[in-house]
Amino acid sequence: MNADASLISHFDALLLDLDGVIYIGPHAIGHAVSACARARSEGLALAFVTNNASRPPAMVAEHLRELGIEASEHDVVNASQAAARVIADRLPPGSPVLAIGGPGVRAALIDRGFVPVDSADPTPAAVMMGYGPDVGWKDLAEASYAVQAGALFVATNPDTSFPTPRGMAPGNGTLVAAVVAATGCQPIVAGKPYRPLIVESIERVGSTRPLMIGDRLDTDIEAAHNANIDSLLVMTGVTSVRDILLATPQHRPTYIAPDLRGLFMPLDQACVANDPVPSMCAPLLTAAAAAWARADAGQDPCADVDVAALESLVSAGLTR
Ligand SMILES: [Mg+2]
Repeated sequence: MNADASLISHFDALLLDLDGVIYIGPHAIGHAVSACARARSEGLALAFVTNNASRPPAMVAEHLRELGIEASEHDVVNASQAAARVIADRLPPGSPVLAIGGPGVRAALIDRGFVPVDSADPTPAAVMMGYGPDVGWKDLAEASYAVQAGALFVATNPDTSFPTPRGMAPGNGTLVAAVVAATGCQPIVAGKPYRPLIVESIERVGSTRPLMIGDRLDTDIEAAHNANIDSLLVMTGVTSVRDILLATPQHRPTYIAPDLRGLFMPLDQACVANDPVPSMCAPLLTAAAAAWARADAGQDPCADVDVAALESLVSAGLTR
C-alpha cells in the first residue's frame, strides 16, 4: 500500500456504524456530515450498517437526510435484512416464518419472499427474533414451541441492552436468551459481531475493498475480523484509550482515528501496522501496537503507558 495516499483511497466502500460514528441520539457527530459527502465525491459507496432491527431502513435514511447526509433507503442495511438473508440461504421463498419483533422484522421477511406468521401451530419453517417494544411472554412462548418442534432459529442481533432516556433497557439478546433458556437451543445470529450483516452490506454496495468503520471493539471491529475485512476505529463513541490497549486480537482495529477526518489523512498517519509519522494520533497508534505486542508475549499490555496523557491527546485531536 502507498503510505502517502489517503486512507480512503485504498477502499471502494465504507460500511458505517451509526451510533457513535455518525450520530449520538438526534445530533450528528462532528465532521461526520462533511466526511460522508467527501467520501461520496471521491467515488466511494456508503452503506449505513445497524444492528437496530426495529427501525425500517427508510426511517433511518430520513434521519440521516435530516442531519444533512445524502442517504436512500437502499444505503441502510439492518440486522433484520441480514437475518432474512440467513433464512433465504437455507429455506425456499414462500416458507412460513414466525416473526417476533417490530415492523422491521416482518418487512425484511416479506422482501425475501417469506410468509410471516404469528403462531407455532402449524410449525413454521423458521423463527426470526428481533427487538420490538410490544414483544411479550406469548411471543416468547410461540418462539419456544416452534424452536422445540425443529424450526430454524435465527436472531437479528445479540445486543443485550440499549440506552433510553430512563436508563438501560432489555435488548433483543435478552429476549432471545429467554427462548434459549426455555429450549436449550442456540440461534444463528445475523447482526454484528457476526458475519451475515457485513456480508449483506458488502453485497448491497457491490464492494470488493470495503472498510468497516465503528466505535465499538466487541461489535464493529470484531465483525470486521469475522468477515475478514479491514476496520477503522473512531474515538467518537464508547471506546476509551484503555479499551484499545487491552484489546484482544479479534478486537484490534486495522486503523484508528480520532474521528472520520482520519479517512482523508495519509495512510501512515492513521495506521497501526505501518510506522506512524508524527500526527495527532501517532502516539496512540504506537502505544497500541506496543501494548498488543506485550499482551501477545504474555506481558502486561499497559506497563509504563501514560494512559491519561494519551487520552488528552485524543481529546485534543477531537476538538481541532
Ligand atoms: Mg456504534
